[in-house]
Amino acid sequence: MIFRQYRNWRNAYFITVFILTIISILVGTFIFTKEKKVVAAEKIREIESVSSQKSKQITEWYKDEVNDALVISQNSVLLSMIKTAITDKSLINEEFRYSISQIASQHDYEEIIITEANGSILYSSNNDSTVSRKHNYSRKEFRITYNPQVTTSGIYFSSNKKLILDFITHPKIDGRDIKLILRINPESSLLPLMSYSPVYEKSFRSGLIEFTGDSITLIFSNGESETFKAGHKYVTSYFFKLDEKINKNVFKAHDVSGNLIIAYLSPVLDTPWNLYSKVDNKELFLSFNRQAIFILLLIILVFILIFTVISSLYSQREKDIYKSLYQMFSDSPQPMWIYDLETLRFLEVNHAAIFHYGYSRDEFLSMTIKEIRPREDVAHLLEDVKNTTNPFNDAGIWRHLKKNGELIYVNIKSHEVIFNKRNARHVLAMDITDIKVAQDALQESEQKFRQLFEDHSAVKIIIDPTDGKIVNANEAAAEFYGYTREQLTSMYVYNLNILDQEKIKDEFKKVLEQKKINFEFTHRKSDGTLCDVEVFSSRIHISGKYYLHSIVHDISEKKKAMAQIEKMVAELVTAKNKAEESDHLKTAFLANMSHEIRTPMNGILGFMELLRQPGLTGDQFDEYISIVKTSGERLLSTINDIIDISKIESGQITLNESGCNLNDIITQQYDFFKPEAEKKGLEISINSLLREDEKFVRTDITKLESVIVNLIKNAIKFTKSGSIKLSVSRAEEKLLFNVTDTGKGIPKDRLGIIFERFVQADISMARDHEGSGLGLAISKAYIDLMGGEINVESEIGKGSSFTFSIPYKPAEITSKVQIPGKLEEICKIPQDLNILIAEDDEISYIYLSRILKKYKVNLIRVYNGIEAFQECEKNAEISLVLMDIKMPIMDGYEATRSILTVRPELPIIALTAFALSDDKEKAIECGCVDYLSKPVKKEVLLEAISKYSTKKATA
Ligand code: ADP
Repeated sequence: MIFRQYRNWRNAYFITVFILTIISILVGTFIFTKEKKVVAAEKIREIESVSSQKSKQITEWYKDEVNDALVISQNSVLLSMIKTAITDKSLINEEFRYSISQIASQHDYEEIIITEANGSILYSSNNDSTVSRKHNYSRKEFRITYNPQVTTSGIYFSSNKKLILDFITHPKIDGRDIKLILRINPESSLLPLMSYSPVYEKSFRSGLIEFTGDSITLIFSNGESETFKAGHKYVTSYFFKLDEKINKNVFKAHDVSGNLIIAYLSPVLDTPWNLYSKVDNKELFLSFNRQAIFILLLIILVFILIFTVISSLYSQREKDIYKSLYQMFSDSPQPMWIYDLETLRFLEVNHAAIFHYGYSRDEFLSMTIKEIRPREDVAHLLEDVKNTTNPFNDAGIWRHLKKNGELIYVNIKSHEVIFNKRNARHVLAMDITDIKVAQDALQESEQKFRQLFEDHSAVKIIIDPTDGKIVNANEAAAEFYGYTREQLTSMYVYNLNILDQEKIKDEFKKVLEQKKINFEFTHRKSDGTLCDVEVFSSRIHISGKYYLHSIVHDISEKKKAMAQIEKMVAELVTAKNKAEESDHLKTAFLANMSHEIRTPMNGILGFMELLRQPGLTGDQFDEYISIVKTSGERLLSTINDIIDISKIESGQITLNESGCNLNDIITQQYDFFKPEAEKKGLEISINSLLREDEKFVRTDITKLESVIVNLIKNAIKFTKSGSIKLSVSRAEEKLLFNVTDTGKGIPKDRLGIIFERFVQADISMARDHEGSGLGLAISKAYIDLMGGEINVESEIGKGSSFTFSIPYKPAEITSKVQIPGKLEEICKIPQDLNILIAEDDEISYIYLSRILKKYKVNLIRVYNGIEAFQECEKNAEISLVLMDIKMPIMDGYEATRSILTVRPELPIIALTAFALSDDKEKAIECGCVDYLSKPVKKEVLLEAISKYSTKKATA
């Protein structure tokens, strides 16, 4: 592996070097080309600048020469000397000659010649005898534009092949046109100007080009010249074959010799010439090319050097790696070997393998890998070797045999190698016999655990506490929750437990920290039913992770039983409390009753005794009688209260609704209590009544009256001064009654309990009023029954306001609505009226007979129901019956029913000491026309007798 990596590095290195080389060449070429262009531009600039410099120098020189020529031609001494000389040749004397030669040497003239206008030579400084020379001076003359007095011959070869250049002036001497020819040698003056060159290139040459007629002459600085006649192949394109015009004066071209050149060609100002410079293109880049080649060679050399050094380093490292790899192989504690893929022979084997398998190295190398396998595994091995194509192969677990015959389990990993040029595999064998044995044991124990878990009759689930996932659940759990095991193991415990997720996580924590192991939860089954469960949870460790092993018990039945027990206990406690309360009530009741019965009884018995005293005055008698009456009424009221509360307690009270005029009921009570209130100095008033269209209502009149009476009585009782206000009003579907007084008020802490039985606001023994403490309890019970509610607001010393409501039930105005009779009717009792009184009680009878004594009526008395029936049957004169209900042999109800069978028209008025509205109902049901409760008030009795006897009379 390391080696492979190493090889990769090496390849990578060489590739990098190669790429770098290519990049260097490309960059070098790019730089070279760029630099070459720069060098070319520089060279061209240099050539151009040198050439234009030369051109300027030539112009200067030329101008100087022209000037000199002009000056000389205007030299008067010379002119006069010439004049003398040309008039007479003999006058050309030494002085003339000397002067001419002076001028020639001063100006470096080669020769000074004087000719006629036609060219015939008059005098030559070089040869006196020229005067006698035959030939004339006949050169084409170039005009000098800026100085027309001077002409020039251009450069040409003299007859003795010397280069010459003439500056010619044309002085007029004595009217004769003379030519003064000042001949110079260009090789000594002009050409050196061209030959000097700061340009290094050897091939650099400059020359002047002169156009003469159809020929072009090129004179180089060294004096060489070339003359091209018209028709020469280069004449038309200035001495060279143009390849590229680089700028106005510089060209790339091929010269006449076919060399590639860089040429400069430009007219020399104010001269008849053009300056031509050229340099071989080849030479231009010679040094640059040399430098480039040198640098390239240097780079190549450096690369070669680096490559060589690194290669040698690598090869050394490769050897080292090979060495250490081999050492790693042979010294590795893991058994390893290399076998030939073709022959299956061991090619190499390490010490660990030798040690582990017990064979020597030589023994190994003489064996094949088949020989360390049990015979039965060999076929499988061969197949595996054949089918293994992976370079790296995780061959898994194999059975191997040691030399001593011991069977071991090994985990085999191998990879392909080339070993000694053979296709081979390098094999690593790890002895896992111990692990295998342990694994088998673990598997067995796991199997046992699994069986224990899965087959257990208890509901078991295993939870991952990190996310609440159910990782396993047994069959019992599946059955219990109604899910399949697959469903359960795809669920979270939050899907079962109805507890908040965060709380469940807190419980997990407790189990993991081993702080708590049993819990009570409510789990939801698949059908949505909830079930109380007790869960025993413990943490278990599987594959390095904690899980929760939970056993779930259904405790819903147990819970139900517990709830029942708790309910029973609560009931027992309530019963006990009730018993205690009733005990308490009994005591209160007895104490109260004792007081409320004894006090009036005291009054009655005491004053009865006093009444029997002789010699009482009329006022005393009335006073005592009044006291007895008041005490009797108080006693009766107490007894009525006791009976009512007993009936309420025993649930015998029912509602008996009938239509009534509510305003009349309030007014009647007002009328009734007005005298009593006023007697106490209290003002009583009705604040509001119902509207005309709502005053007829259906209600239990007796109970309603009882409540109103009780509230008014209390108001009078507990108010010493001030007022009492009554009101009735309708608020939507309710009727609201209010009794407000300006009395003593009720302490705040007693307000809530005054509606309880025997409770009085003032519980001190020094209280200044009487009462059983039952009135409000009875009132509340009646109001509750009627579907209403009663409330009180009170302030000590300021007064109390009792408000109660009952449902508003409008009634039709029918004959059934009871409209109380008028008082005048009370006394209209027909004379000789036969009244049957059925009464077993003597005192009651005497009381009735006394009341009726002053009216002329006939009283017939019977003692029981049978007698009453018999009397009514035989005596047709009887026109009214007063029937006591509670009688021996046959009670009043039955007697009434019997009498009505024979005398259906006979009015029977029931008398009862039961004094309850139910009794009245019962009596009416039996056929009685009315019901009077004992002790019957005189007015009430007379009114009833009057009412029913008159009715009959009318009938
Ligand atoms: P009783 O009047 O027979 O004592 P009630 O049940 O009618 O019994 O009243 C209970 C108690 O409520 C009274 O003892 C009294 O203390 C208080 N109470 C009732 N009505 C009034 C009222 N109008 N003003 C002051 N206290 C009242």
